[in-house]
Parts: sequence; C-alpha cells; structure tokens
Amino acid sequence: MAYRWPDETVFSRLELHVEEQWCQTCGNRLRVCDHRHRRVFTLQGPLHVVCKLVHCPDRVCPAHPRTLSPEAETTLAMPWWVLGWDVVCWLGQRRFARHWSVGQIRAELGDTYQIRLSADAIETYIHRYQQMLAARHRDPQRMAGVYAPVDAVILAIDGLQPEKGHETLYVVRELVQKRVWFAEALRSSATAEVQQLLAQARTWAERLGKPVRLWMSDKQDAFVRGIAAEFPGVPHRYCTNHFLRDVAKPILEADSRAKVKMRRTIRGLRAIERGVLAEQHPTVSTPGAAPDPPEAQPEAVAREVVLEYCAATRGILNDDQGGPLHPPGIRMAEALGEVRASLQRNLEAQKGGRRMSDSPVWPATSTGG
Ligand SMILES: [Zn+2]
Repeated sequence: MAYRWPDETVFSRLELHVEEQWCQTCGNRLRVCDHRHRRVFTLQGPLHVVCKLVHCPDRVCPAHPRTLSPEAETTLAMPWWVLGWDVVCWLGQRRFARHWSVGQIRAELGDTYQIRLSADAIETYIHRYQQMLAARHRDPQRMAGVYAPVDAVILAIDGLQPEKGHETLYVVRELVQKRVWFAEALRSSATAEVQQLLAQARTWAERLGKPVRLWMSDKQDAFVRGIAAEFPGVPHRYCTNHFLRDVAKPILEADSRAKVKMRRTIRGLRAIERGVLAEQHPTVSTPGAAPDPPEAQPEAVAREVVLEYCAATRGILNDDQGGPLHPPGIRMAEALGEVRASLQRNLEAQKGGRRMSDSPVWPATSTGG
C-alpha cells in the first residue's frame, strides 16, 4: 500500500539525471521525455526525488521506444520502497545485530528520525533487508573472495524446525569459513528432496573450485545416501554435537523417568500447607492487638518452618534446569536427600528434647518422605 505522507511534510528536492548522454545505438543526444517523482524517507529527512527520464528522439532509431532511468535512483531506494537504503540498513542492523524488537525500532524511528511507520511496515522492510542480505551473502564474487585463502571446504547439513509442526528447514553450512551457504524448507526428508540440496552444494563447491574435504551431519538415512551419491569418496562424519546428544539420550530418558517417580512419591504438600494455614489462621493477631502469649510462639515458629520445608520441596520438584552432563533428576534426588536428612535431624532433636506440638503436621511429614 502506498505511504500517505502527512500534508505538512517538508521534503528536500533531489534531481537525478541519466548518466548516459548519447544514444548507444545511433549516437544522437538523448532527450528528457518524462519525469518520475518519488518520495522516500532517509535518515537525513524526507526526500523528493525527481528522476529525469530520457529516450532517443530519433523516431527511426530502434532504441527510440526505450526509456532510460537514472541508475542513481536505485542506489537511494529500490522501486516502490518508501524507505531509502540508509533507513533499511539502519533497521536491519538494529534488528539483527542489536536484537531490538520491532516496537523499539518503531519508537526510535519516530523519536529520532521522525519516520512514522506501522509495525507491519517495519516487518515488511526487515524481511526485505533479510532478502538483500541473503542475496549479498550468496553473491558469487563475494564468496570467491571469502574462499580465496581456503584449500578445501568442510560442509555440514542439518534439519531445523523453527517452530513445532512447521516444515523442516534444511541448512547447509560451511565450517571452515563458518558461513551458511543456503537453507531451504523441505516438506519431507525424502532422499530425492535432500539430494537436490546436496547437488546444489556440489555446484557451489565446484564454482568456488574447492574440493570438499568432509561432510558432517547427524547421519540420518537421507543424508548418508545423498552424500554418498553426490560426493563419492568424501568422508562423512557425525557432528560431535549430535553424537553427544545421541549418547546422552538414554541418560536423559532414564533421568526423566526418575524425576516422574520422585514427583509421584512426594505428594500431599498442599494438604500439609492447608493444615498449617488452617491452624495458623485463628492465632493471626489483629493489628494493634496485644502480642500472642509467649507459650504460643514456638508453635508459630514451627508452623513457619513446616511451610518453608514445603516451599523448598516444591522448588526442588519444579526445577528442570540441566542437561545430559548435569541431569536434573540427579540434582533433584540429592536435594530431596538433604531435605530428608534435615527432617530426620529435627525428629531426633524432637525426640531427645521437648515435644513441640501435637499438630498432625509432623507425623504426616515424617512418613511422607
Ligand atoms: Zn538512437
């Protein structure tokens, strides 16, 4: 949708002329035949660009029907864009290098540059920025420059699922120069579809004139077959990350089962808390009232302690942090063991010392573990 400029917008005017002055076909002097007016945002303010379009005035010249535009026009902004290149680069850099949100970008564009755009429009331009960046990244000339000092390339392929249930994005990366070569969403991991990507990787390596020293992947069937077919003789190894993850898988599964079991065993926290709170309620002192009689104090303290035990135990059961090298279930078991030891110390102290309370809370806790 075309941008609606507010009536009070003040534009700087810029005239662009076609760089070429003479008709390349007949040598006649080119003549201005039309004007194209464009209004674009730049970081320096709104710009009114007037492009002077030219053609060859000689009606018999074959080039006569062709209209030429100034090349400088697309260095300011691409056709139909309302943002100049400087603004597009600015917001792409803020989004991807600084990880700003669209809302932040929108506010900053408005506050600092008086460029007022909808969130949708900003997202559209971020998408265009990505397309431009990808195109530049894949530019053969730039690639050749990046790979000039490299003897051989090491390639990796992996399927990523950006969002659950979405089609898988297959990414081919080169590991020596750490570049993503290309990525494509495939609807299936069928060998034929994957093979197409591998063939593309071969074309790229050939274009660079670099041998492929090694392939790395998680070695799923389609990769194994495809790489053997497209890159005969090139070694194919496990990616260490995948390797570790696969090794860790049975550990994590066992850990997860242990966690479920521990959670199932330790129940009734809420009932204990409810019991304590119900006892606590009648003794809650009203503001300004006299403090509780001294003999009630140890029981109040005991109830606090029980509630804190419950909170700590719940925290332990809900803790899911950790990976295969620090399985969360092991930490959970250790922490629960500490709680039990602590409770045991209390019970022993209670047996040896003064009876603290007839509350049903204590027996429930001591048998609950
Ligand atoms: Zn001509």
